[in-house]
Amino acid sequence: MSQDSEYSEGDLRNTGMRLKHDREWDYELEEIVDAIEQRDATKVGLQFPEGLKRRGPAVADDLRELTDDDVTFMLSGQPCYGACDLDTYLMKRTDVFVHFGHSPMKDTDKVIYVPLFSNVEITPIMEEALDTLEPPEETDGVGLVTTAQHMNRYDEMTEFLEDRGYDVHSRRGDERLTHEGQVLGCNYASADVPAEQVLYVGGGKFHPLGLAMEHPDKHVVIADPVNNVVTVADTEKFMKQRYGAIHRAMDAEKWGVIFCTKIGQGRWETAEEILENNENAYLITMDEVTPDRLRNFDMDAFVNTGCPRITTDDGPQFHKPMLTPGEYRIAVGDDPLESLSFDTFHGTW
Ligand code: SF4
Repeated sequence: MSQDSEYSEGDLRNTGMRLKHDREWDYELEEIVDAIEQRDATKVGLQFPEGLKRRGPAVADDLRELTDDDVTFMLSGQPCYGACDLDTYLMKRTDVFVHFGHSPMKDTDKVIYVPLFSNVEITPIMEEALDTLEPPEETDGVGLVTTAQHMNRYDEMTEFLEDRGYDVHSRRGDERLTHEGQVLGCNYASADVPAEQVLYVGGGKFHPLGLAMEHPDKHVVIADPVNNVVTVADTEKFMKQRYGAIHRAMDAEKWGVIFCTKIGQGRWETAEEILENNENAYLITMDEVTPDRLRNFDMDAFVNTGCPRITTDDGPQFHKPMLTPGEYRIAVGDDPLESLSFDTFHGTW
């Protein structure tokens, strides 16, 4: 139960938006209706992230009213936590496929992405964050990152900092990310900027933790406009949990190597490399990686090549140690303990 949604960026669960900001979103119905008409579509797939699934039937109702009677709308019931997580079964069987809540991980005509931005004001929490950031005259500026849900306010955030004298550094990390300044629960490359401090504006605790681990040399300030708190990312507790999992896996003989079949979560080469070098490793393919689904496998430990957040956020819920590929290398003695870092995911498919 994690990933970009609760943890991730592609994800709304993290932000708590569903609970705190019950509101009308802009579902971009006109754009969807236009696509249906242009393509003479009779089958339309709608995919929502977990936090917004309950809105699906009402959106389908609205679309039904705006389209001909021969158009069938189908709601994806598959779990969805990120833009990496398209329902490919439904996508292949529909003329128009709409993915709500995440920004595109890869441009394709097949999918209409409806991002669903947060309506939370960001200025008050940024004002508060100024007390925790190093002042502009004492630093080389500030890196600025946020999640897809707050991306609509990125210019406003930049302007806010610039007006207060900061040199704002931003970049688009890599092709897994849609926007400049965007981070995902598995990718913090946008924070790779020449500044000693980074301001993360967004909800949840998992994104900034990954960010702080990925950039240990930077002062990472979290301005959470959803829960209205400013904190400094502290990775200590998290690191201890990861060292604990590695330690418990050090005596493992039988390893389950998980290859995730979700379109944007497959790291075949990583899985293959482990299998080639460990005759006691078994490849397990699956889409949703959950403790229940792994319980019947009699393994001593697992290594997950799919979504890193499953490993780090849900790790303690699995019946055997669950490691990232980097942690696996430490556990089997290929890499030193000091090499422990956050498992990040680059590229698309
Ligand atoms: S793989 Fe990345 S984008 Fe996909 S759910 Fe996990 S953290 Fe989010």
